[in-house]
Amino acid sequence: MAAQPIDERAPAAGTANVVRRCAGLVAPAAVAGLVLGAGAIRWDVPALVAVAGTAGVLVASLLGRTRVAKRKRAVSKGFGRDRDLTPPPSMRTAIDALPDPCFLIDRKGLVRFANKAASDQLGAVRIGEPLSFKLRVPVFLEALEKALAERRADHINWSEKVPTERWFEAFVAPLAGPPDTPSDAGYADLICVLVRDLTEQRRLERMREDFVANASHELRTPLASLTGFIETLQGPARRDDAARERFLIIMHDQAERMRRLIDDLLSLSQIEMRAHVRPKGVVDAAAVARSAVDSLKPVAADSGMALTFDATESPLWVRGERDELVQVFDNLIENAIKYGATGERVAVFAERESRAGGDLAVISVRDWGPGIPPEHLPRLTERFYRVDVATSRANKGTGLGLAIVKHILTRHRGRLSIHSQPGRGATFTIRLELEPAPDLPDEVSEIAVKNQTVKLS
Ligand code: ADP
Repeated sequence: MAAQPIDERAPAAGTANVVRRCAGLVAPAAVAGLVLGAGAIRWDVPALVAVAGTAGVLVASLLGRTRVAKRKRAVSKGFGRDRDLTPPPSMRTAIDALPDPCFLIDRKGLVRFANKAASDQLGAVRIGEPLSFKLRVPVFLEALEKALAERRADHINWSEKVPTERWFEAFVAPLAGPPDTPSDAGYADLICVLVRDLTEQRRLERMREDFVANASHELRTPLASLTGFIETLQGPARRDDAARERFLIIMHDQAERMRRLIDDLLSLSQIEMRAHVRPKGVVDAAAVARSAVDSLKPVAADSGMALTFDATESPLWVRGERDELVQVFDNLIENAIKYGATGERVAVFAERESRAGGDLAVISVRDWGPGIPPEHLPRLTERFYRVDVATSRANKGTGLGLAIVKHILTRHRGRLSIHSQPGRGATFTIRLELEPAPDLPDEVSEIAVKNQTVKLS
């Protein structure tokens, strides 16, 4: 909505104004009358001349006053004494450029100007309406009253629960105007209200807090278990050989769990550090997926599962970092083996997908296990989010695998989509933009394909 300033002029000449003006004329008229009257007596000036002189002084005084009033109006130029509180164009332009909602309101709390961000973020704003129609929060109304009564700036925060949880802050500040502004120029009648939506910032803060709390909790559990077993071995089970053997196996598992967690946390932080750096190499995504399948075939076999690879097209050149893409495929295939074991097979497909903006390399990992209930799908890539914590732990999961996958794909400008129907397995699909085949001499090309990475200069 393009905010419109309002033109609210005070009534042209109220009774009080007329009385004030007339009173102002009495003094010069009386002085002129006295002087000319005295002159008429002393120097014998005819009475008619005296009356004409008095009238002339009166007219001159009236004209003078009109000129002064005009000059004063020119100073305030539609923004001063006559209470036309339309902010000047330069002020409006500056406020309009702000990315956050900003309002100028008058003494009555009515909106005199609202910038574009205000209507974009808070909905249409009507000029001349009370701002309290838009911001009905008590804490805000109190701050506004204080700013109007005490001419003091204030900063307030509040949150809303309906329809979704949102956080805001507002700065309420009376305007003082530039240093050389006449005291009656009207600025002092306006209050500037700047509103900022803090929802996204708060969400990130909460995520960070949750992350630290989750990471500490995940590390503390195996640590507590290790400490407990060490104390038992130092005390009651000091001479119990059988117990020691049993405990050492458990302690080893717990130490391994901590190591996996620390490895995943480090991985995640390294990927985040490089998040904005585009990979420099070009790799064959189909070949990387095939090698991940080959290396995990023994793991699948241990779980009694068949792991297969099929490609309708190869090579599929994408801009990427081989080690990171290996991590993506390893995570997805390991998950399919861990959580889809009942389906007894996992299939990995590589294909090309035609698209108007440029073709894509599509690699999907499919299992025929229990699948994932739909309500969990949108949250699976959150750190430490698991459908079932006990099953994840039993499968040596850390809850960070899919978060790592998501971060790597973001860096590769790729996408992850998850499809699942409970009882019918799950399919995790990644899409990456295809790159033209690197232009290399035959023998280099062979080495490149074998190593699956070609560095671009
Ligand atoms: P984890 O270390 O627990 O495996 P991930 O981030 O890799 O963590 O996966 C998050 C959760 O997603 C898992 O705990 C599991 O509940 C669910 N999940 C992932 N892949 C599958 C799958 N193929 N089938 C069913 N559930 C899955």
